[in-house]
Amino acid sequence: MKNGTYNVIRFRMQFVSAYLLRGRDGYVLFDSGYPYFERLFKRRCRQNGLSADQIRLILLSHGHIDHVGGARALSELTGAPVAIDRRDAACLTTGRFAPLIPRTWLGWLTTLAANRQVLPPNCRFTPDILLDGELDLNEYGVAGRAFHTPGHTQGSLSVILDSGEAVIGDAVMVNFPFLSEPSYPIYADDLDQVRASVAKILAVKPRIIYTSHGGPVTPEAVRRRYRL
Ligand SMILES: [Zn+2]
Repeated sequence: MKNGTYNVIRFRMQFVSAYLLRGRDGYVLFDSGYPYFERLFKRRCRQNGLSADQIRLILLSHGHIDHVGGARALSELTGAPVAIDRRDAACLTTGRFAPLIPRTWLGWLTTLAANRQVLPPNCRFTPDILLDGELDLNEYGVAGRAFHTPGHTQGSLSVILDSGEAVIGDAVMVNFPFLSEPSYPIYADDLDQVRASVAKILAVKPRIIYTSHGGPVTPEAVRRRYRL
């Protein structure tokens, strides 16, 4: 949107996006898409001229099936370890997700079906790294850090790169019918926490904000929508 270096590559994985965060000699993959999307992932790699073994880490924004479903398969494919906040990690081993609490009409419309989803047994695994709300990505060659932005789930994480690009998972969504405007997440554990986390994201002064559903959005649009 503005001039500057772009270090984020979007991988559209049907209804959700994963992101590649560019580093000095490889990438951090932010989220893994749904289960069984390995072929789509490989195609996205080819389209972007990169190979799976360039991925140094798979960082999961939070424990929902569209973000963690492919993690085991992509870890096996890339050889990269998987990191998730410990508060959202249980779903990876049990296959069960915390109940979704709808917060918008789209949430109410979809919650019954969404709450029936389980992680298939062959997608379950024990994650390599359990986080306590933060991670310095420089350890993986990427100039940036992950920080805790709870509310959508208790273990939700966002990333801010030194270049000013933020990747925030589901802390903000861009959904039907507001296809170009940021909106509240359709499900959230705690809306007050969501607001506090969005304020935290704006406080790190991103120049652009990448969301997992729709977007990207500007910080100004998010500030307007959340009245912050
Ligand atoms: Zn989610």
